Amino acid sequence: MTSDRSLDALFSAALDARANAYAPYSGYRVGAALLDEAGRISAGCNVENASYPVGTCAEAGAVAAMARAGGRRITAILVLAEGGGLVTPCGACRQRIREFALPETPVHLADPGGVRATLTLAELLPHAFGPDILSGPDVTSGLDAMSAGDRARP
Ligand SMILES: [Zn+2]
Repeated sequence: MTSDRSLDALFSAALDARANAYAPYSGYRVGAALLDEAGRISAGCNVENASYPVGTCAEAGAVAAMARAGGRRITAILVLAEGGGLVTPCGACRQRIREFALPETPVHLADPGGVRATLTLAELLPHAFGPDILSGPDVTSGLDAMSAGDRARP
């Protein structure tokens, strides 16, 4: 459950991020904003590239910004774009979100007019492969052991 105040803040941050999307090829602009365990908001926009596969999604930018800020857990995320129907995170981004979120974490889907739907991560990515499978950080039980150094693999 995301409070109204947090949801408003996520919406504004995603809308703001989307305004700076770099999408000269598709013209498809996306903004994403997430709330972390410390109540910080991190946002990102899509960044396309002349070499198409090199482009990155808005959610990837938001996750990177969260990590940079020291966040290790997504408590809510909002994705904002304009298209025919609901715009959901792509498959790769569902996996990116899973790394830092719980199955019940809300994923808010919005367009510039407002939030259109809220799904859980489990609804978007059922039976997900996650850090628990590799005995990685357990996002369900505290965050103390989740420093960047702990995540390094030999
Ligand atoms: Zn994506």
